[in-house]
Amino acid sequence: MNGSLFDIKECAIHDGPGLRQTVFLKGCPLRCSWCHNPEGLSARPELMVSPNGCTGCGRCREVCPLGGTMVGFGKPPGCTACGLCVTACPQRIRRVAGETVSAETLAARLMENADYYAGTGGGVTFSGGEPLMQADFVLETLRLLGPAVHTALETSGYGDENAFAAFTDAFNLILFDLKSMDDDIHRRYTGVSNRLILKNARRLCRGNTPFIFRIPVIPGVNDTEAHYRAVAELAQGAPSLLRVELLPYHITAGAKYALLQKAYQPGFETDRPIHIDLDIFTRHGIRSCVL
Ligand code: SF4
Ligand code: SF4
Repeated sequence: MNGSLFDIKECAIHDGPGLRQTVFLKGCPLRCSWCHNPEGLSARPELMVSPNGCTGCGRCREVCPLGGTMVGFGKPPGCTACGLCVTACPQRIRRVAGETVSAETLAARLMENADYYAGTGGGVTFSGGEPLMQADFVLETLRLLGPAVHTALETSGYGDENAFAAFTDAFNLILFDLKSMDDDIHRRYTGVSNRLILKNARRLCRGNTPFIFRIPVIPGVNDTEAHYRAVAELAQGAPSLLRVELLPYHITAGAKYALLQKAYQPGFETDRPIHIDLDIFTRHGIRSCVL
């Protein structure tokens, strides 16, 4: 069984306990205005080109089947991410985001350093993109990793309910994003309704899989008393909730868009001060922190 991923980050420190190997899967059904991994949005491989370091040697254009239409030394319209220019570029400023791997290959790669990560109290985290889009591949990889590897999932919660139920059974820890409890705001800034997300979130609250609610705190979008209170009311009394984590938006979120030759148009005031309130969670008997 094959899956598609765009990165494996080593020694990640914010993706679950201990040090972790975080697998970033391709493809996401959301289009969050603040997304900092735009290469994870499309399920297809994509060429990324750094705007810095090009000497103008022209080798990329020479090898590209579409080179005649290449704009500058970026990528031509209709680029297939074939990768020919990646190997041709002496400056190594081109790369393809998106690798197809089998579950066996991925599990074997992750197992190479599994003992080291286990020694730190860590393990493997699946992130993205949205792992629910490749649920069968993820579940098969987990099966091959076996119960000795601690596994965590980072998810938007937007996905098939049966797949999400299978994930809650299979993962040791779930990091679940809550972007907005208001459906209109959610649609406006992510492109999708939050109804399915909240359904899966309620399942999580009823179950016994350890989980953390994560709020990407976006200025002027969800840094409100109303949002924090709604999250606290949803989470209150959930037996397996570990804590709520607030992740303040950072202006560097847009850094990778230029590499994909896309414009970063966040649609909110990126430099507006962020309102943080942890007291609301304390009043509901919930542990919380800012990452
Ligand atoms: S990845 Fe292939 S199609 Fe795209 S610019 Fe490079 S050589 Fe051309
Ligand atoms: S091969 Fe690399 S260095 Fe040469 S023109 Fe293309 S992008 Fe620039």
